[in-house]
Amino acid sequence: MATRAKKIILLSHCILNVNSKVEGKDPVPGAQSDILNLLIEKGYGLIQLPCPEMSYFGISRWAHVRDQFDFPIFRKHCRKIFKPILMQVQDYLNNGYEVDGIIFVEGSPCCGLNKVTKGENWKGVNDTESYAQLLAESTKVEGEGIFVQEVKKLLAKNNLELNLYVLNEKQPELLLEELTKKL
Ligand code: SF4
Repeated sequence: MATRAKKIILLSHCILNVNSKVEGKDPVPGAQSDILNLLIEKGYGLIQLPCPEMSYFGISRWAHVRDQFDFPIFRKHCRKIFKPILMQVQDYLNNGYEVDGIIFVEGSPCCGLNKVTKGENWKGVNDTESYAQLLAESTKVEGEGIFVQEVKKLLAKNNLELNLYVLNEKQPELLLEELTKKL
């Protein structure tokens, strides 16, 4: 038997399940085990956020850039999928649990905290050549993903302050270092 540590951290969906990502850009085969092992070793319970893209566009979706997701119904979708999690967080906090923060995924059009994928000329195209051209032109720029923005608004509206972290999938050691120091 063990005594629960009453510590919780929230994570973007694909940190625990890489299968939700657009196919072909997998940073790990299944889950970010180094990050997860560290959190588990430190006694954290993990809450997996829903994937805003998977839950709206499915697994056969194309890659997108941030501005394609910046439309009212998708923002509403982001709020809708986060609200049940928010209510769980409130309940935990009201009952003496610690909810430390949320780990997002850098560069994602939805979950990027400081950087997002952008394409200046991005628009709908119906041939693979044009699509390949758009993909080649897309870059990472400073900015927040659509889901991150809606989550932050809901947290502020409910007077909740959580730490926000981000996983750079090409340099996971940066987050490992940060979490090792802070948690
Ligand atoms: S939208 Fe977020 S959770 Fe879904 S695959 Fe992209 S980074 Fe992961």
